Amino acid sequence: MNGVPPCYNPAHHHALPEEAVEALPQFFKAIFDTALSIKPDALVEFCPCGTAYSFFTMPFMNMSVASDPKSSWQVRLKGKTLKALMGDSVAYFGDHVDMSDGGDDFASTIGVGGVVGTNFTWPVGSARRPRRDLTPEKEKIWDKWIRIYKAEMLSRGEYLGTLYDIGFDRPEAHAIRKNGNMYYAFYAPQWSGKLELRGLEKRAYRLTNYETGEALGTVRGPVATWTAQFEKHLLLEAKAE
Ligand SMILES: [Zn+2]
Repeated sequence: MNGVPPCYNPAHHHALPEEAVEALPQFFKAIFDTALSIKPDALVEFCPCGTAYSFFTMPFMNMSVASDPKSSWQVRLKGKTLKALMGDSVAYFGDHVDMSDGGDDFASTIGVGGVVGTNFTWPVGSARRPRRDLTPEKEKIWDKWIRIYKAEMLSRGEYLGTLYDIGFDRPEAHAIRKNGNMYYAFYAPQWSGKLELRGLEKRAYRLTNYETGEALGTVRGPVATWTAQFEKHLLLEAKAE
């Protein structure tokens, strides 16, 4: 996907062997244009399957992907990076949740405004590889998170990538603006202490944990601090009052 060698096949009648290299982006454009001409709302995703992303393909897809992440950190890091490179009107797929930490870390996709997805076999026991089985226990977890995803639809929000630095701000934080409200996602193995809620307007906001529905009180912008304890993740909604 990411490159081709110069082509020396005389049957192709290339003016130069490098023509093959130079025309590669046009190959992806042809796929994109053809797909959309047949189905205007077709989803086109190029997945480099864990290898490097290519600028060749980026203009010709409407969903990028975490692409075989090895951890939840990669899901979030790739989300932030691809949104920076491609803009966030392009959807970002956090890839199958089965590849995240614990195999069920939907929070790492939802919190960065990604699209959730799973990869399972059903009914239980029908596959040669039973580790993909959608067991009743798993079904409960997936039901919970897919409900949260659909209720908030943060994949349609505006990812504000410059508010937090993924390298230096602790805990790791991501922010999304949607309909005048702000959505924060914090990640750390364990956290106890202050959180900074950036990007607010100078007004009051009602704070809710949008994973649990717990009402947390009121904060005031433009920058609010909130003291919290959490493990793995904390998902907050700040709703303008
Ligand atoms: Zn050729």
